[in-house]
Order: sequence, then C-alpha cells, then structure tokens
Amino acid sequence: MNIDKDLVVRFHYTLKDDAGETLDSSDDAEPMTYLHGHGGLLPGLEEALAGKAAGDKLDVTLPPEKAFGDRVADAEQRIPVKHLGGAKKWQPGMTAVVHTQHGHRQVTVLKVGQTMATVDTNHPLAGKTLTFTGEVVDVREATPEELSHGHAHGPGGHHH
Ligand code: ZN
Repeated sequence: MNIDKDLVVRFHYTLKDDAGETLDSSDDAEPMTYLHGHGGLLPGLEEALAGKAAGDKLDVTLPPEKAFGDRVADAEQRIPVKHLGGAKKWQPGMTAVVHTQHGHRQVTVLKVGQTMATVDTNHPLAGKTLTFTGEVVDVREATPEELSHGHAHGPGGHHH
C-alpha cells in the first residue's frame, strides 16, 4: 500500500539541523503515527512521504520556509507565568506550550518573574533547515472514526 490521502502511516525518523546535530528521533520510542493528507505533519514532510510504502527510506531536507518558517524579529511577548504549559518551574531557555485561540504553540522562555514571563514566540525550530531521515514502518487504511477526527489513533497517535 502506497502512502496516499486518508491512510494511516507509521514511520521512524531522525531529525537533524543543518549543523548535523540530532534534534529528535523516534529510535527509542514508538514510530511517528499520522493520518496522511490532514495537516498532521509539516507539509514538506508529508510531500516527501507520499507514494512510499512499508520499508521505503525517508531522506528529505526542508528549508525553513517548508518547515517552521523564518525567525521573526521582535517576537518577544510578556505573558502570565500561569499560561506556560509543560513544566512546574521555569528557567530561561526552556520551551513552553502556550494555548491561544489559534491552537497551541511552542515558545521559548527568555525571562521569568513572579507572575509574568517574557517569551520568544518564534517556534524553537524556526529559521532552521531540517533533515528527516528514516523508514516507513507500515501503511494501513484509516478507521471511520480516525477519518472523522482527522488524525490517527492507537500507539503513537492520539489517545482520547
Ligand atoms: Zn481522535
């Protein structure tokens, strides 16, 4: 089965930046699981996976504009510390999740006070050229429930 819209794909990956440093990898974890064609992955990554089958290798390099975009200057914002999600105590350099009306986004903590924090709203991977290498584990039909939710369920997918 070749990767196409509405199929559930599992794949292992290693993510490196343009300096060759490993940023993330699924090697010691469940493979990444997603529903193809529903915006679950970076568009450039879905493009590279389209048409592949189980056992096929992945090797794609995405410039910032196909990954998390360029870094924006003046992206500093002050927000209440209680709006930072992902940890109990914050230190400069940590990555936090902030929920906004447009969904959740990752930000980098710059300064932390008693009640307010200064964050950089650029995605931590903004401005980076990213290389994904890996292998497709398997490809299957999505269940009607997965299609109605627009994402994959089960190990590596969403849990409700
Ligand atoms: Zn769901």
